[in-house]
Amino acid sequence: MSPIKLSGRLLSRLEFAFVRYVYWHFNKPVYVILLGGPGAGKGTLATQLAPKLGLAHISTGNLFRREISRHSALGKKIEPILKSGGLVPDEITIAVVARELARFANRRGAVLDGFPRTVNQALLLERLLDSWSQEVCFVFFLDVETGDLIVRLAGRRTCSNKACGLTYHMDFNPPKKNGVCDKCGSALYQREDDREDVVLARIENFNGTNEPMLRFYKQRGRLFTIKSSNRDGKDSVLTRVLAVMFRNWQA
Ligand code: AMP
Repeated sequence: MSPIKLSGRLLSRLEFAFVRYVYWHFNKPVYVILLGGPGAGKGTLATQLAPKLGLAHISTGNLFRREISRHSALGKKIEPILKSGGLVPDEITIAVVARELARFANRRGAVLDGFPRTVNQALLLERLLDSWSQEVCFVFFLDVETGDLIVRLAGRRTCSNKACGLTYHMDFNPPKKNGVCDKCGSALYQREDDREDVVLARIENFNGTNEPMLRFYKQRGRLFTIKSSNRDGKDSVLTRVLAVMFRNWQA
């Protein structure tokens, strides 16, 4: 790491580590992980939860889609992977997440949506946070039956404005004006990977990697399971998640 420039002078690595230690010691950031299959509601919950807690919302799917729409070198590399519903390699994913978490604007912590997706990613995240004397505080598994996931994804529409990225459902949560985002007025579209053939590959991927991840976080005493179905009310998941956080918050 090169020396850090702060207030017109260079801090050595040691000084920087000390300043960071003191800062984080008194302002411990909070990291919340949302696990669940595609369409489980991670993105919706994260957009509700992050502003309430003053945390950043970091969605690896959104970050990857942004790279693709910018036609960056990374975007070109990962585009076929997203199209097929496969997983982006762990070393690329952790590098993208580490860059986001290190941003000053995200210093209070983050709600991680769609990351980690494998035990290896969970281990890499643990090591990264450990090197900053930080840790994951809560892991919520949004447990939704496969039939419900398919219905959700088939009706999901996403805002085409990458900076907004809000999602809607044609039946459960339609926009006020058909095909238009309530928040920013951009056009809504159906994500290519929400098509039925890709959806099945994504759900299969999820089923293959999820159990070991649940065990990983259960062993660390961080895991909370929130069952949800298409019959639930709009804010039901948020209310239950906030109740769990309130009961289990450790200063
Ligand atoms: P999402 O928006 O979370 O459904 O993610 C869309 C796609 O981005 C996934 O189907 C994967 O191809 C890729 N992706 C998102 N997060 C990850 C991750 N943590 N690890 C690997 N690939 C990911």
